[in-house]
Amino acid sequence: MNKELYRKLTGLCEKPLAQASNRDIYLALLDLVQDLSQKNEKPVTGRKLYYISAEFLIGKLLSNNLINLGIYDDVRAILQDSGKNLSDIEELEPEPSLGNGGLGRLAACFLDSLATLNLPGDGIGLRYHCGLFRQSFQNDVQNEAPDLWLDEHSWAEKTDVVYPVLLAGKTCSARLYKLNVTGYHGRTNHLNLFDLDTIDESLITDGISFDKSDIEKNLTLFLYPDDSDDAGRLLRIYQQYLMVSAGAQLILSECEARGCDLHNLADYAAIQINDTHPSMVIPELIRLLGEKGIPFEETVQIVTDTCAYTNHTILSEALEKWPRHFLDQVVPQLMPVIEKLDCLARTRTDDESTAIIDCRNVVHMANMDIHFTHSTNGVAALHTQILKDSELANFYRLYPEKFNNKTNGITFRRWLLECNPALTKEIGMLIGPGFRQDADELEKLLAFADDPQVLQKLTDIKKENKKALADWLYQKQGIKINPDAMFAIQSKRLHEYKRQQLNLLFLIHLYLEIKAGHTPAVPLVSIFGAKAAPAYTIAKDIIHALIALSKVVAADPQASPWMQIVFVENYNVTAAEKMIPACDLSEQISLASKEASGTGNMKFMLNGAVTLGTMDGANVEIAERVGNDNIYIFGQSSRQVINRYAKGDYCAYDWYESDPNIRRAIDFLCSPQMQKAGHEENLSRLHNELIYKDWFQTLPDFNAYLVRKAQAMTDYAQDTAAWSKKALVNIAKAGFFSSDRTIAEYNRDIWHLGE
Ligand SMILES: *Cc1c(COP(=O)(O)O)cnc(C)c1O
Repeated sequence: MNKELYRKLTGLCEKPLAQASNRDIYLALLDLVQDLSQKNEKPVTGRKLYYISAEFLIGKLLSNNLINLGIYDDVRAILQDSGKNLSDIEELEPEPSLGNGGLGRLAACFLDSLATLNLPGDGIGLRYHCGLFRQSFQNDVQNEAPDLWLDEHSWAEKTDVVYPVLLAGKTCSARLYKLNVTGYHGRTNHLNLFDLDTIDESLITDGISFDKSDIEKNLTLFLYPDDSDDAGRLLRIYQQYLMVSAGAQLILSECEARGCDLHNLADYAAIQINDTHPSMVIPELIRLLGEKGIPFEETVQIVTDTCAYTNHTILSEALEKWPRHFLDQVVPQLMPVIEKLDCLARTRTDDESTAIIDCRNVVHMANMDIHFTHSTNGVAALHTQILKDSELANFYRLYPEKFNNKTNGITFRRWLLECNPALTKEIGMLIGPGFRQDADELEKLLAFADDPQVLQKLTDIKKENKKALADWLYQKQGIKINPDAMFAIQSKRLHEYKRQQLNLLFLIHLYLEIKAGHTPAVPLVSIFGAKAAPAYTIAKDIIHALIALSKVVAADPQASPWMQIVFVENYNVTAAEKMIPACDLSEQISLASKEASGTGNMKFMLNGAVTLGTMDGANVEIAERVGNDNIYIFGQSSRQVINRYAKGDYCAYDWYESDPNIRRAIDFLCSPQMQKAGHEENLSRLHNELIYKDWFQTLPDFNAYLVRKAQAMTDYAQDTAAWSKKALVNIAKAGFFSSDRTIAEYNRDIWHLGE
């Protein structure tokens, strides 16, 4: 036993561990970790990265920090000796609610990799009091409640640092909170989160509604306040400005403290703009540098050299555009700068499509980013190609040298070492510990691809993880699932482009086939996890339809031995860590061209799930690496989809009318059984949407999806060893998707940190 650690822990608890409560121990561990992480803070030389993002979906931090500091096994052993259990203690930690989905999780993985690679790089964001929302199902529909995750003892420590920020004509104080980001045997960096002292959580009434009038009291209550009305939209701009103005002041003061004269800012700072939410950092920095007496033209050059932009989507509703009068109202101090930038951009091209302020007085944030940063990157090879070829083709012609690809990645510390200890241990026994630092070493597993004992061991580990997920689900939601079935998981934000509705139609089809006497090759447990944006009606209807169908199936003694549908409440990082290691089939079925990268696909692959997916986002790069035998690809290509949109000739009704399987599945939504299990209004709205609109082309991919999924189920049922081999190849080929690789590429091509 590590005696020194034991003494420290008991000292912090002020009593023998056996007599301490789990809460005492949790707080002692928090102190211990903060202390140890501070020791790994290192002075910064040369360029330092600031990653500005509206979201950091960091997940619980205790285990992650213990692993990164190299004391996880020791702490667990010490606790065990005193009759305590680390996972019980972990239960006490609230999951920080600072993000929404993949974009925020990516930011968290990047911070981990920066610190692990010993690169100086901090995050800048906001300290939301309630984050997104806590999801529950009531009366079979999504219910939203505030997620009050802030604890008086928190990883994010309050500092004395405040910056003045002009909000609605009034100067407010943005207070800095600092959270230590530990690297795996690396340095400690920081996540800087800003907040106002004046926020009043009692403004929240009735679910997640709140009085939107007084921004001093409500500004950081929620991430993405409902933007279906003007008050909500204005609030988002205020939030963004708080983040970038305080962030810009932090960056300038840190650089000046290191001796930077601001003409050379780009030698001291690299700023990564994560999607368009932080775009106003560009005019804000120009404004602040102007106040220091630097001429406009030079400030523009400095900011361009310092900043880089990441594009995360081609969905047009996500590329932020604000009516000019909104910005006039919220950030009048920035409008003269934005106007000058618009004029300057117009001297470079007369292509109206690249204007910052268009002829209808709409301000295009992404356009400002591309003109006035030195790098624009997409997040997977296919996505970057689509940006160059179509979405941003006009910009690519103007600035070909700015465009580059950085395929996303995930941190293997959280998504393998932490969430799947049994698999981690087995890999270590087979190929040694090197893969912990160098993910490419996982390829050494290929030497065991035909070793029956290894394949059996992988099957056994998966089975144990499936049992653990079943236990967790039973505890959490009182649902019993069959661990002998095949587990297919689709967990990600609910959006029509991700096509949970395609999975729904498959499950209806499967149900009706079973009723007709055609049983599948293997029993299937279909597990979903997804939050729908509170104002996204159809997304909520899809959740409802899945829950209604799950009731129909569960009540049917003929079908229930063969299929089960489970919707996990409140999908978040903690849930993901339980679900992903237990997955057999990873559902990555977005409409080709729409999922920029995906990172869930990478987590599943790393944990030995086989992908059933379209040729979209990083699925393309997964398929390239594992080969056709080890992935199930189906559906239209991105080229076909883009052409269909260009022609505008997609007609869902034709598919509905001409294909009996499609018609039968869709019409089941309005069957007496479904109507009895669910709500008529939600189900018929979805029925209508699918046959008259189906903007994300579910129906053309329906039959191909059926065929590939049935093939996967047959393969799984027929030859366990062959399936296990597919799993092994997926694990072995996952190294490329380590965020350590992604960060090394950003550093090589864009940031040049420490130089
Ligand atoms: C990884 C992750 C996501 C992103 O999943 P995609 O399938 O890439 O959309 C979303 N939410 C959570 C909690 C995650 O861990």
